[in-house]
Amino acid sequence: MLERNLLLCNLSSTHFLCRSSLPYSFDANRSRYAADGAQDTTLIYSRLRLYAGLAEGQKLIRNLFVACIDCRSMLLYLSESTRQETAVAGHLRLLPEIPFINFGALNAWEFGSARYSPLRDCSLQESRMGFATNAIHVGQEPDPATGAIVAPIYQTSTYVQTELGKDKGFDYARTKHPNRQALERTVAKLEGGQSAYVFTSGMAAIDAVFRLLRPGDHAVISEAVYGGVFRLSTQLLVHFGLEFTFVDTSSHDAVLGALRPNTKMLYVETPTNPTLRVADLGALGKLSAERGITMVVDNTFLSPYLQRPIELGAHIVVHSMTKYLNGHSDSTGGAAILTRQEDAEKIYFVQRSAGSGLAPMDCFLVSRGLKTLAIRMLQHNANGIAVARHLDAHPKIKRVDYPGLASHPQHEIARKQQRGPGAMLAFDLGSLDAARRFLNQVKLCSLAESLGGVETLISLPALMTHASMPVEVRERVGITEGLVRLSVGIEDVEDIIADLDQALLYV
Ligand code: PLP
Repeated sequence: MLERNLLLCNLSSTHFLCRSSLPYSFDANRSRYAADGAQDTTLIYSRLRLYAGLAEGQKLIRNLFVACIDCRSMLLYLSESTRQETAVAGHLRLLPEIPFINFGALNAWEFGSARYSPLRDCSLQESRMGFATNAIHVGQEPDPATGAIVAPIYQTSTYVQTELGKDKGFDYARTKHPNRQALERTVAKLEGGQSAYVFTSGMAAIDAVFRLLRPGDHAVISEAVYGGVFRLSTQLLVHFGLEFTFVDTSSHDAVLGALRPNTKMLYVETPTNPTLRVADLGALGKLSAERGITMVVDNTFLSPYLQRPIELGAHIVVHSMTKYLNGHSDSTGGAAILTRQEDAEKIYFVQRSAGSGLAPMDCFLVSRGLKTLAIRMLQHNANGIAVARHLDAHPKIKRVDYPGLASHPQHEIARKQQRGPGAMLAFDLGSLDAARRFLNQVKLCSLAESLGGVETLISLPALMTHASMPVEVRERVGITEGLVRLSVGIEDVEDIIADLDQALLYV
């Protein structure tokens, strides 16, 4: 029987993957990646056509154009008549030669959707769907009352009771409302959790998660954590009897050394904001399980499309949905995704008692944004790789922090646990003065806090997102005054690079 096959291969190593349709052809997005001198950066491609033929019984592959990315370059492999046995049907990341894959228009197939753990009581059909399908459909069923394909915004504070004590599932919008319920289903599904609760901001979600702790409990936190988490823990939560230790969570020994008998939580941001350090989630998940510690992972920088911490041992995932999950910079929002019923009950209790649940309009906006998460992340990832490589080769830039570069200290771990390096990067211009001259000249890139939007955003963490961190902590973790953070958007990558280049002339 003919298998549906789309072929992706690394011809130089004769590995093949077959998954999608046969025969298959498509035009990829117009893309152009400028060579920057390295011998493997010879790619300029504008149209990509792929014809994969797999003859019954013969398993021959013909006329194959293949695109893949390694972290140091994007390569287009081209073969007019390749004849190979199709040997591998699995995940691309099993291939050591291909650290990160950009699917771009190759997104005809999904990474093994079977790996996505289903919600407890989702339908069989739902549990079988791939990431992009779930992002569009889970929690987003047409409105039963009118058939509207997009559920309405339930802009109401209260719900009528049909008789005393009887309602239609909703009573008061602080407690729950249909738009929040819908979004919580989608987010739980995409992260592979049992349930999710969404909040007015990422910080509200993180605050709710820390409230699982009790006075006298200790938490270990990534030292290069988002400045707001540092402020929340050291200036607010400490007054409620909680203890915190900040360590480099990319060092297993440092985490191990920080554990105490009263350690109840390990809070990991990976990659960290803004230094892009990567923690080994599998190893930390194992450690947390052995020690009975709750592992929380902030997955804001990658989104569930590029990283799935629950599969690696996290008990709780948090997000600033303000970022990639919304993706359009038009609402704030946060999420806590849970895997254990007891945590879920406590988090819901916080949400409805403290009144920190996300409002209907904002839920609607994040739900809308989520529908394009998969396709956005593909383009973010491709643009992130191209921009990082370009900046890395720029003579005015001292250092680029980006997990996709082979020079990144945790590059191998990132390859192992991430589906792509993402679109967040930081680079050092050497001084505040140089950074100021550069930032005052960018035109397409917007000088602004936040990240993860379709537009490229640029910031200076030392004076902006991480201003609340004491100088000595900032310096220790590498947030220098010349460190610029870039959230690479999904504009044409040539335009982003051109804008950065012209601003660098002023440095
Ligand atoms: N986590 C990370 C990694 C962040 O970058 C941010 C904000 O920038 C937050 C959490 C907090 O999210 P919010 O601004 O939505 O409260």
